[in-house]
Amino acid sequence: MSRMWRLDQFVFGDDVPGDEVYVDGDGLELVDKSEALAVAAERGATLFAEWPPSGDPEPLACIVGKVSTPLRWEQTPPVAQELDEALWFSGACGERDYLVGNSHTFTGRLSAWCPTTEVSYSVSSSEITEMSLEARYFIKGFLHGAEPDPPMDAEGDTDDDDLEAWRQAVARFRRNGTWYGRWGTCSVCGSVVLPDRGGDRCEVHGHDTGGEQA
Ligand SMILES: [Zn+2]
Ligand SMILES: [Zn+2]
Repeated sequence: MSRMWRLDQFVFGDDVPGDEVYVDGDGLELVDKSEALAVAAERGATLFAEWPPSGDPEPLACIVGKVSTPLRWEQTPPVAQELDEALWFSGACGERDYLVGNSHTFTGRLSAWCPTTEVSYSVSSSEITEMSLEARYFIKGFLHGAEPDPPMDAEGDTDDDDLEAWRQAVARFRRNGTWYGRWGTCSVCGSVVLPDRGGDRCEVHGHDTGGEQA
C-alpha cells in the first residue's frame, strides 16, 4: 500500500535539497540547482521536486513549473458516492447491508453500510457468509489489490524464507481477508507466526483467533 503524500512534503525553490538536480530538458539532465533555479526564474517559474526528499543524498528529479504561495491543493467539486445495490451481503442486523469500498483501517478491511440501522462500519471477508455474486467478486478483486508487497531489503532482494512466508500469508489473506501486520510468536514452538493473523499459536499448534481489528 502506498500512502498519499502530504502537502507539506512538497518541496520547491531553495528548499529543494542538494546542490545538483535532475531536470527534464533534452532527456533527464543533471544540473546545478542554482543554475536550474535561475533558468526557472527567467520563465516566471520555479523548481519543485517530483518526489518528497527521502534523505537519500542522490540528486532529486525536479520539474520547472509555477508554484503559488501559500502552497495549496487544487480545489475540485465533490464526487458523489452512490450505493451499489448489487453489492449486498447479509448483515448482522438480519437484513441486506452493502459493501461501499475500502475502510482504510486494516489491510483487507472493507467499509459497509447498513441501511436498517443507518450505520457505516468495517468488515472483513471472513465475517461475511451470504452475499451476491457481485459482492463475492468485488471482494476477490479488492483483496488481490490490497495484498501487501513481498519483503525486500535495501538492495531490492528478497530472502527465500521471507518469500515463501509471504506467499503463504497472502494466499491466506485472499481467503480470509485479514492482515494483522504485527509481530507475534507461537507460545508452543516459538516460531514467528505469519503476519496475516494475530494470536499466539502457529497453524500447527492450533492457531487461535486473537488480534483485535477495528
Ligand atoms: Zn444491516
Ligand atoms: Zn507452533
